[in-house]
Amino acid sequence: MYNDNPTLSGLIKEIDESKQGEAFYKEGHEGGKKFYIESYGCQMNFSDSEIVASILAEEGFGATRDMEEADLILVNTCSIREKAEETVRKRLRLFDKVKQNKPGTLVGVLGCMAERLKAKFLEEEKLVDMVIGPDAYRDLPKLIATAEDGEKGVNVFLSREETYADISPLRLDSNGVTAFISIMRGCDNMCSFCVVPFTRGRERSRDSYSIVAEATDLFDKGYREVTLLGQNVDSYKWSNPETEESVNFAQLLEMTAKIHPDLRIRFSTSHPKDITDEVLETMANYENICKYIHLPVQSGNSRVLELMNRTYDREWYMDRVNAIYRYMPDCAISSDMIAGFCSETEEEHQETLTMMEFANYSMSYMFYYSERPGTLAHRKLEDDISLEVKKRRLNEIIRLQNQISFKHNQADIGKTFKVLIEGDSKKSADDFKGRNSQNKMMVFPKKNGLKPGDYVQVKVKDATSATLKGEIVEG
Ligand code: SF4
Repeated sequence: MYNDNPTLSGLIKEIDESKQGEAFYKEGHEGGKKFYIESYGCQMNFSDSEIVASILAEEGFGATRDMEEADLILVNTCSIREKAEETVRKRLRLFDKVKQNKPGTLVGVLGCMAERLKAKFLEEEKLVDMVIGPDAYRDLPKLIATAEDGEKGVNVFLSREETYADISPLRLDSNGVTAFISIMRGCDNMCSFCVVPFTRGRERSRDSYSIVAEATDLFDKGYREVTLLGQNVDSYKWSNPETEESVNFAQLLEMTAKIHPDLRIRFSTSHPKDITDEVLETMANYENICKYIHLPVQSGNSRVLELMNRTYDREWYMDRVNAIYRYMPDCAISSDMIAGFCSETEEEHQETLTMMEFANYSMSYMFYYSERPGTLAHRKLEDDISLEVKKRRLNEIIRLQNQISFKHNQADIGKTFKVLIEGDSKKSADDFKGRNSQNKMMVFPKKNGLKPGDYVQVKVKDATSATLKGEIVEG
């Protein structure tokens, strides 16, 4: 389909199947150089690592999962919480040993921590040869050459244009069924606790037709689900420089949904202030746009939301939740919550708990507040909630979410869902795993003749707070 569509051809470099996933690791690259890459943090980072792999493959690098045999060790870092950075520092200790055993091995730090620390990283970590920010991956070949000549390389320039739209990701750890497509980069919001605007720069949306071209090419190659990625997908807006045409997120969703009814569309992450009824209506109109929305609330209290600079209040968020269930009663919503933000009172914490019950989240990502250097909150607000109270409030949020998730899944017992088979279940090779439209993981016994990438109807027989168990039914 991709080839015979004149508006799409040439917009992206087609993915070369022989250079994807396991095949790429297996490809010997005898005598060639090899890279080893670890990725941490959000899905954007994992997608960026696929762009990095593609750039290195163009340079003749092969990939290895064994850092001992690598010529180049890369770590794509996250900076969202202190713990994320501690993890990276621990990994660098390990890389240091490898480098001592195999002098000449290069070590490069990518991603948000590289962008946050910049050249300071080189002073703090002597083993590091290259520090490369999220917008500078095209510069990798040059920085590797510089480092091979014994000079340290740094490029942490944040761009207002870069979207890597013309680079076809090399899906290293792909299951061949589901894939992520980055549709925009950066974030123009300024949530007071967040480093992302400082580490990923200003928002810029990618050419809509290159996104459709990539999704079409993936469908042609057997993928059956794509997730459109952005820090805040709802503010996606692309204007065609040659024409007056402009495409917003609802229109992009429709363009991808129209590729083929068997290509499922997911997206992440939404922002409560920008999610429109137009997006919800488009979701309701296409069966293949999955009925699942990740809508971070962060707090259920309006005063705390204002301190967080989230630009919406409790009532606005509840209105959006009502709108979602109005357009799609069977839609699942998940969220992010931060416990113990600056000056949060016990009553305000209780409002986060009542918001969770109101929204009836299918699952959530839950953390206690971790002050990040350079953020608005770090500069203006006191991190005055004790660690003990932060942990106690977080445990209350987690306990409640487990109860809600369990009820949410129990209510699915007896229902039949269309499921996309993604592969073998982790626990048993006799079972398949796959997700329904609501993004719930389902496990069910295999049936002959079926394989990953097939759709099946699965009736739910049992449920835990994390998984639905069922069996394939005809029809
Ligand atoms: S929307 Fe807020 S929390 Fe999300 S990436 Fe942007 S600044 Fe960070």
